[in-house]
Amino acid sequence: MGYRVMSEEEAERRYQTLLQELRRSYPRFRLRSKQNHPLQRAIHRALQLLTLGKMRTYLSEYQTTLGQTVWVTADWDAQPALQRWVTLRHEAVHLAQFRRLGMVGIALLYLLVPLPVGLAWFRMRLEREAYEETLRALAEALGVEALREPGLRSSIIRQFTGPAYGWMWPFPRAVARWYDRFVASLSGQGGCSSEPDSIR
Ligand SMILES: [Zn+2]
Repeated sequence: MGYRVMSEEEAERRYQTLLQELRRSYPRFRLRSKQNHPLQRAIHRALQLLTLGKMRTYLSEYQTTLGQTVWVTADWDAQPALQRWVTLRHEAVHLAQFRRLGMVGIALLYLLVPLPVGLAWFRMRLEREAYEETLRALAEALGVEALREPGLRSSIIRQFTGPAYGWMWPFPRAVARWYDRFVASLSGQGGCSSEPDSIR
């Protein structure tokens, strides 16, 4: 109710600018469709097995960065520019993580430490860094107050505590504390919620 919403034109402009930045920073950067790709289908099946069928939307609802490739769902180009821009901000954090930790480092830490399912501290930390960027982008687009909307708050908390990432951090109160503190830190920065152009 009453949120300022960034226009689709502005969101599209920012999306294109971000794409250019990523292409400059990562020479092998590319967006590829998950659909009909053997490796992506194999990951999908593995996730279904690992989560006993609870995670079924890997191919249809989640964008995934591996190395310098961002694997996107079949409907990516049809998504609103705002959604593509916010998601790409999240994936840009993962691109930087791959550069920082390497493919093997990420594979080991993200998938296995300390457990592949149910308690995955490194995955939680890596996703937390990326979701903070999601929240930053949403605050720029909608104003920081939008982040206090209970539906958004609980859906992000659920990403950590539910099957989407294999119950990586099943402690709702701890995740909620992180969320609320991070949103408060964004509010404290003043100006970012009312002047999106001052951010970049
Ligand atoms: Zn992520």
